[in-house]
Amino acid sequence: MGAVCGTCWYCVRDMTHLCDNSMAMTSAPRVKRTHGTEVPAFVGLGTFAEAMTVHDASVVPVTTDLPDEQLALIGCAITNGLGAVFNTAQVKPASSIVVIGSGGVGQAVIQDARIAGAARIIAVDPLENKRSAALGSGATDAIDPTSADLVDEVRRLTGGRGAHHTFEVVGNPTTITQAWDAARRGGTVALVGMSAADAMITMPALSLASDDKPLCGSLYGGTQARRDIPLIVELAETGRLDLASMVTRRVPLHEVNDAIRALEAG
Ligand SMILES: [Zn+2]
Repeated sequence: MGAVCGTCWYCVRDMTHLCDNSMAMTSAPRVKRTHGTEVPAFVGLGTFAEAMTVHDASVVPVTTDLPDEQLALIGCAITNGLGAVFNTAQVKPASSIVVIGSGGVGQAVIQDARIAGAARIIAVDPLENKRSAALGSGATDAIDPTSADLVDEVRRLTGGRGAHHTFEVVGNPTTITQAWDAARRGGTVALVGMSAADAMITMPALSLASDDKPLCGSLYGGTQARRDIPLIVELAETGRLDLASMVTRRVPLHEVNDAIRALEAG
């Protein structure tokens, strides 16, 4: 995980995901090459390596027999998804949810909504392999947004009202608007996907108030890594959370660029 200081205004108030000093801590190079240039590492980790040196504030100790490849998922995708369900939207049993974007984080939202007891879990993704994985992870319905109007389909599946909770896991103004339209009045809309820095959205101002529908940002799902990661490990150890099915391919380090290309291709 990214480093957090543990002592700033946010950290001492159980909001370590908003740590004031995280960016400075994670971007500070810790290593130099033999000829003196600094070695930068994404969020201070640099995980495409056989060995890493990381800030001690990036480490969460866990005691478990889960394989490394499953634990690796907990560092980002799983934790984001779990937090979005339990902290941001606070999904309750028998509710209906929509997940727009069914990649790693989307699959985590689906699994955690299943754990929270959601009655209807609607996955949205243009790729057939993502939709079938979503159905295997606990989604009750899957929509291909390239062949059906996703808002119409969600309303059809939810008594015409829209879902209790929608999760946008893409980071795109069009799908953010669809997430808003697919949520019912009094529902919640959680923005989990990271948009481009210059992306803008236009919202119906009257609806923001009169539909009593919060548009919620969800950074790392509001999770507190040192508190929540051991709980996620326990969910995985007891089989409530299925991490094994999320590992679809193993790639040696020297083929990492091929792996990135495969991700880009869905
Ligand atoms: Zn802090």
